[in-house]
Amino acid sequence: IAAATAAEEPIVPSVAVNYTRLLINGQFVDAASGKTFPTYDPRTGEVIAHVAEGDIEDVNRAVYAARKAFDEGPWPKMTAYERSRIMLRFADLLEKHNDEIATLETWDNGKPYEQAAKIEVPMVVRLFRYYAGWADKIHGLVVPADGQHHVQILHEPIGVAGQIIPWNFPLLMFAWKVGPALACGNTVVIKTAEQTPLTAIYAAKLLHEAGLPEGVLNVVSGFGPTAGAALANHMDVDKLAFTGSTDTGKIVLELAARSNLKPVTLELGGKSPFIICEDADIDQAVELAHFALFFNQGQCCCAGSRTYVHERVYDEFVEKAKARAVKRLVGDPFKGGIEQGPQVDLEQFEKILKYIRSGIESGATLETGGERFGTKGFYIQPTVFSNVTEEMLIAKDEIFGPVQSILKFKDLDEVIHRANATRYGLAAGVFTQNIDTANMLTRALRAGTVWINCFDIFDAAIPFGGYKMSGIGREKGIYSLSNYLQVKAVVTPLKNP
Ligand code: ADP
Repeated sequence: IAAATAAEEPIVPSVAVNYTRLLINGQFVDAASGKTFPTYDPRTGEVIAHVAEGDIEDVNRAVYAARKAFDEGPWPKMTAYERSRIMLRFADLLEKHNDEIATLETWDNGKPYEQAAKIEVPMVVRLFRYYAGWADKIHGLVVPADGQHHVQILHEPIGVAGQIIPWNFPLLMFAWKVGPALACGNTVVIKTAEQTPLTAIYAAKLLHEAGLPEGVLNVVSGFGPTAGAALANHMDVDKLAFTGSTDTGKIVLELAARSNLKPVTLELGGKSPFIICEDADIDQAVELAHFALFFNQGQCCCAGSRTYVHERVYDEFVEKAKARAVKRLVGDPFKGGIEQGPQVDLEQFEKILKYIRSGIESGATLETGGERFGTKGFYIQPTVFSNVTEEMLIAKDEIFGPVQSILKFKDLDEVIHRANATRYGLAAGVFTQNIDTANMLTRALRAGTVWINCFDIFDAAIPFGGYKMSGIGREKGIYSLSNYLQVKAVVTPLKNP
């Protein structure tokens, strides 16, 4: 009841929204059209600010600036050490402004402030320090040739990187994309999600304060089919990185192919299995399965959204999973101790409620939740379905909300088959005390990440990405560097003495 009251009387954030324009060539500018769009507070549905609405012309300007900064500007020609220093200074500035930027993130997205301030912004700081460390450690090879040739392999920046990011982790997605691109000496045009434009512009401003030369990083706020498509389609963008839904991933891949065949990395949707074996520590498994699904209001591409439980521990698990969901603290994300804030916007809110209705209609057992939470904003009750089977829509589609689906299984061969019977392959969780079971499952599961007795571990050095329709390529770690580098072979004859 206390949480419900909090949701109805939103805490007023103490931070001013200062940056709402596009950032092109080191300058804050209005959209060429003069248009703006509102960004909303998901706690109330009220407008936070009006943000410049970038479109084709703005993308063209941003790409032009990035092209110039790459071809003529200092960035790729600077020493790697200087680039690294700028990234490190940015990390320090971000750390200094941690609470302010976390406030904007929560306000724009709805995620608990404690999560933004204590986990996500610090992760972004850590990630920039990680990639700053790489900047001066990128080097080529000298390879043996069959003939009398000296063969060098140069690793060069790829050029202008176009990047399109989603709204579920606005600042973190900015970091996963911009960090490696800058470390490798590229210039960037990034299109933020229309639901959550505020923090990336702020971060880009801090990067300039840290010494980033003009034109190296350009931020365009705006919509997907206009600004996003213009970027994917641009003839002067050398590489495209996209995170979002699988359907949109297909569109941008096609645009990239039809325009200039720019290489594309995609981080897309998922329907990740979370497998609880009969020998698992049930209390720990309940807690982690809960976290795996409900974290970030269920708005994670790698959410453990198919909870498979062995039949011997199934009843106990369902009862405890339900009790845990009932206890989940929902309310104003600015309030201390809150575990779950509102969904990002009305569209997501309605989509999730539709999936919940579909779960009920298809015969799954609604253990708890199932409705909106409170009377205002986009809050949804933590929802648990048991007796879910694969043919139900809630077991197939990505719901992207606080809806846990529990399925029963009998043996390992069966659960491997069922876990893999999806077009996605982003992540999987395995819960067991048996090392042989763990080894067998990790090798059999077709997913880009397998977490054993843990979930959602996102260190900067761990690669992340999907099998199958969950994506192409990997982000983070050393794997992200190759997305932003060209390989040039240089062959020189060796004169015989
Ligand atoms: P969601 O449905 O979760 O919002 P999307 O894949 O639609 O996921 O959005 C992810 C990002 O892709 C956002 O920045 C969005 O603006 C952008 N986007 C959406 N449609 C297109 C499109 N047709 N072309 C390029 N980018 C797009």
